[in-house]
Amino acid sequence: MPTITQLRASYQSGDLTPSDAIRSLAETIESRDPEIKGYISYDTEAALAEAEKVDLSLPLGGVPIAIKDVINVKGQPCTCGSKYLAENYTAPYDAGVIKKLRAAGAIPFGRANMDEFAMGSSTENSAIQTTRNPWDTSRIPGGSSGGSAAVVAADEAIAALGSDTGGSIRQPAALCGCVGLKPTYGRVSRYGLVAFASSLDQIGPMTQTVEDAALLLQAISGHDSHDSTCIDEPVPDYSSFIGQDIKGLKVGLPKEYFAEGLDSGVKSAVETAIQQLESLGAEPVEISLPHTEYAVATYYIIATAEASTNLARFDGVRYGHRSENAGNLIEQYHHSREEGFGEEVKRRIILGTYVLSSGYYDAYYIQAQKVRTLIRKDFTDAFEKVDLIASPVTPSPAFKIGEKSDDPLAMYLADIYTISANLAGICGISVPCGFTATDDGKQLPIGLQLLGKPFGEGELIKAAHAYEQATDWQKLA
Ligand code: GLN
Repeated sequence: MPTITQLRASYQSGDLTPSDAIRSLAETIESRDPEIKGYISYDTEAALAEAEKVDLSLPLGGVPIAIKDVINVKGQPCTCGSKYLAENYTAPYDAGVIKKLRAAGAIPFGRANMDEFAMGSSTENSAIQTTRNPWDTSRIPGGSSGGSAAVVAADEAIAALGSDTGGSIRQPAALCGCVGLKPTYGRVSRYGLVAFASSLDQIGPMTQTVEDAALLLQAISGHDSHDSTCIDEPVPDYSSFIGQDIKGLKVGLPKEYFAEGLDSGVKSAVETAIQQLESLGAEPVEISLPHTEYAVATYYIIATAEASTNLARFDGVRYGHRSENAGNLIEQYHHSREEGFGEEVKRRIILGTYVLSSGYYDAYYIQAQKVRTLIRKDFTDAFEKVDLIASPVTPSPAFKIGEKSDDPLAMYLADIYTISANLAGICGISVPCGFTATDDGKQLPIGLQLLGKPFGEGELIKAAHAYEQATDWQKLA
């Protein structure tokens, strides 16, 4: 599949029109997606109608972008991977990022599968279907933006949008061998993103190359008066960070991120990547993020508390599923939620309600907020000494479908390297850094994570691009 840059070049030279691109994409989806199951739906006719009137002079003129099925696109379904919304919900408005994409000339095309309401790490929590990892279809693509990563990796999309609350852009990007960037909290509007945990959620690009991630980030960043947490600060020219050298860049290596529990294949690929950064002129510095061991517990208190509140709006009255087996209003609430939500969503609502309930609020929720401050301070202190932090994205490569289904705790623990960035609100990127072989001879991609200072997306792009150009993982992926 052409990258965004390549596609734009073939439009400019007249070799291709946006309609050609949409048609060939639709053909590829038709032939591959029955196996990959990356898309919940796609509307070729609507995309072709948009392609007819697109302005090719715009930065993303005529570029189709797959959208995670949690971001509202007016007139299209938005299931959030849930039975609750799959039946009868059509988005009544465009999300902030979709308005910005359209203003840049892009065409939202295809609704990418995800874990229900973005809760999960494998897409197995999708009520619609489980997406397959294109590198080994017996394995998960990661999650919750597993559909977005899989369709980019399977050449079924040029690029995609995902959302990241605790790693959901970076982790599937790592497991599928594409680039995934989680912007700083407040960089990108959350208006029209169905909320999971509002203090952690961010939308970001999932692409084939770092350059494409810069282009897509440029298009979706910036103020939106509909999201009070979206900052009103100028957006740098991210493409200007492409092609810069990284001599003297101080790269922190948190010792807690290279400790026990890290798969040896992942470890050696990430260590080799760090040596490569060094040979490009970066200076590795050992650092400590001492509160890392509390990150998983802190995240799963704060995220579930916010989820339990956010998901209260699904009451069987306003949107989506409404139970037909209810004799009165209270029963309607109960039965609609009981029937509409999947097991993991219910687990999180129960956990979140518990930690917010009187008597437990101080012991869990308030305590977690305090630890969150400490985790954030770990990063503030680290960024006094270093420009960027490098680490693995995941403790192990993609696992087999069903392998962790009965063990939610094991699934949660595997979020260890990604969730702290959300708790601290900083930005991060996953860039392909190698492969590890399975027993049956399949190659599974591995990601290198780079974490940056608040609003330091430019530095991330600079380092990730320099690394990408010096290696050929991207080409193999
Ligand atoms: N895996 C994490 C969770 O299940 C992160 C999800 C996300 O980032 N949306 O909550």
